[in-house]
Amino acid sequence: MSDRINVTRSSMPELDEYVEEIRELWQTHWLTNMGSKHVELQEKLQEYLEVPSVELFTNGHMALELTVQAMKLEGEVITTPFTFASTTHAIIRNGLEPVFCDINERDFTIDASKIEGLITDRTSAILPVHVYGNICDVEEIERIAHKYHLKVLYDAAHAFGVRYKDRAVGQFGDASCFSFHATKVFNTIEGGACCYRDPALGRTLYQLKNFGIRDEETVEGVGANAKMNEFCAAMGLCNLKHLKENRERREKVVSYYRERLEGVKGLRLNSLQEGVYTNYAYFPIIIDEKKFGADRNEVQEALERENIGARKYFYPLTNTFDCFHGKYNVENTPMAKLISQRVLTLPLYADLDLRDVERICSIVIRCKR
Ligand SMILES: *Cc1c(COP(=O)(O)O)cnc(C)c1O
Repeated sequence: MSDRINVTRSSMPELDEYVEEIRELWQTHWLTNMGSKHVELQEKLQEYLEVPSVELFTNGHMALELTVQAMKLEGEVITTPFTFASTTHAIIRNGLEPVFCDINERDFTIDASKIEGLITDRTSAILPVHVYGNICDVEEIERIAHKYHLKVLYDAAHAFGVRYKDRAVGQFGDASCFSFHATKVFNTIEGGACCYRDPALGRTLYQLKNFGIRDEETVEGVGANAKMNEFCAAMGLCNLKHLKENRERREKVVSYYRERLEGVKGLRLNSLQEGVYTNYAYFPIIIDEKKFGADRNEVQEALERENIGARKYFYPLTNTFDCFHGKYNVENTPMAKLISQRVLTLPLYADLDLRDVERICSIVIRCKR
């Protein structure tokens, strides 16, 4: 039997390259707390992401949770349930109330035409999610935020390196948070970052990720410990060097999938957005059981029998999680509900062999009845 194929596989540099990058740590003995690798990665990311400022974190979730805290939001935050647990948890763990907006059918991001209807006098912010490398309707969101004086924080965990109309994705909104988890397009093993505009927000973030400490004798905020360590930063410095070639290889995989699966009755592919330079982060397909003859779960099981892991990403919706005990009504987000029942994310990573892509496509097509 051939080796298992998972939905993703972490990008890693050559071992020698990493060893070279961490060698000096054996001289300095400086392993964390904003050491030289941390500083260097921060600078390189500012350049790469074309943003004025970046703060690094131990993971994407802490970037998001502490940014929500640093923004001093109150009351309600408009967001979507078609996301990873992290987005909703970041709101609730800050004592705020998520208000779930539906997503649009085209690109699975927040349906911007439904935001205004959800704004109340308790709304303080919008926390939209870029999904699969697709980007939200940033222009409409900006217009609404401006009109109602709301803060905008993007969950950009899926959008590392994405550009829209020649602007880098991190330039939209008040802040954007990225995840550098092992499974993401760019990884630091575990890691994350926040790009922000306001220097005061940056100072708060810097303190909050280090217990709220300002200096030796002053603790100004009730912070957490969310600093990126030197080994993770070193991994990031290595992986940054291979981003371009990795993107090209991901693009080849996506083109192959599109060629083989486009036009298959009952399947809808993630369409590329106009004006968007994507990162090819994920390859979801939407399976309409009535037309295809098999449902999403059957296709997932057929792949699993061949030792191929496809994921129901995102399912279940965050507004249906057990921990919320039925507090939110999923019928308020019907499109998110429909897509989460039909979506299946196929394996996609830089060194996925095109022969395996062919095999995956044939298994999917064989499910058709
Ligand atoms: C991965 C992810 C996160 C959280 O990132 P971690 O680095 O795993 O903490 C948040 N939001 C979305 C949409 C994600 O995919």
